[in-house]
Amino acid sequence: MEELKIFCPATIANISCGFDVLGVALDSVGDEMIIRKVAHKGIRITKLEGQDLPMETDKNVAGVAGLAFLAESDFDGGFEIEIYKKIKAGSGIGSSAASSTGAVWAMNRLLGNPFPTSKLVEFAMEGERLASGVAHADNVAPALFGGFTLVRSYEPLDIIPIASPSELFATVIHPQIEIKTSDSRKILKAHITLKEGIKQWGNLGGLIAGLFTEDYDLIGRSLEDHIVEPIRSILIPGFQDVKKGALASGALGCGISGSGPSIFAFSRGAETAKKVGDSMMAVYEKIGIDHDIHISKINTEGIRIIN
Ligand code: ADP
Repeated sequence: MEELKIFCPATIANISCGFDVLGVALDSVGDEMIIRKVAHKGIRITKLEGQDLPMETDKNVAGVAGLAFLAESDFDGGFEIEIYKKIKAGSGIGSSAASSTGAVWAMNRLLGNPFPTSKLVEFAMEGERLASGVAHADNVAPALFGGFTLVRSYEPLDIIPIASPSELFATVIHPQIEIKTSDSRKILKAHITLKEGIKQWGNLGGLIAGLFTEDYDLIGRSLEDHIVEPIRSILIPGFQDVKKGALASGALGCGISGSGPSIFAFSRGAETAKKVGDSMMAVYEKIGIDHDIHISKINTEGIRIIN
């Protein structure tokens, strides 16, 4: 086995009360990559289609994550990477995480899995450091483990896989507006009150319990964020109408995906998720903003080999 073709899922991070700690992998939207084991040392990106992104190894997250992998591996050859982007960079559904996780997952596989998945998370986080300046794990962990994942701690890194209820579907709308990551970060408060903290960890505990027990009502009651969403949503035109429409169409909850501008909703069953998508699209059609919509079951497997 000298090369692998893989599907690298899009991911939702910052899931409402799970800001910065909870993420989930999607199934119907993701990139494709081909990773090839070669004799010459180092990492080369030989093809990049679908998005205008740098191909230099040290400027592309797949290259940077790959170099982090090679630095700890005793393999004395290298890898070539082809990237077929389907996830738009900066959309808020883990475009960079798909590339950095895909690279290290396939490289590990081609060498007979010398590293555990938790170690691959660390390599892929170096790609995230390049993309956003912060080596966060909340997109790369679900892409690698599949399903929902909780980043319980960074020091030491402690990733907890969380159950995914079988009837849970995600609807994601990407309004095609640009939000600078620096702006979405700048407006966050550095301090919260004890009262806000209590609400947030009550909801996060409720959400985790709901996911494990497949209690859809509890999941819905817990999908609240009183800390970040009220501030960040100001940057997303139509957010309140999208959320109101999604909940009225039967969604369990709705919030900002990543740092936006994408908005996600969770629903019980594909039919409701589709209705939720129609209501979301109607808002952006009315205000005249182009958009993409994705309706997906939860991807419990993460990255997978394709033909
Ligand atoms: P989001 O999670 O909001 O979709 P990302 O975390 O994907 O955003 O960040 C995108 C940034 O990462 C862009 O600045 C982009 O130029 C950079 N980048 C470098 N390599 C890649 C890659 N292979 N795929 C996607 N983005 C990349």
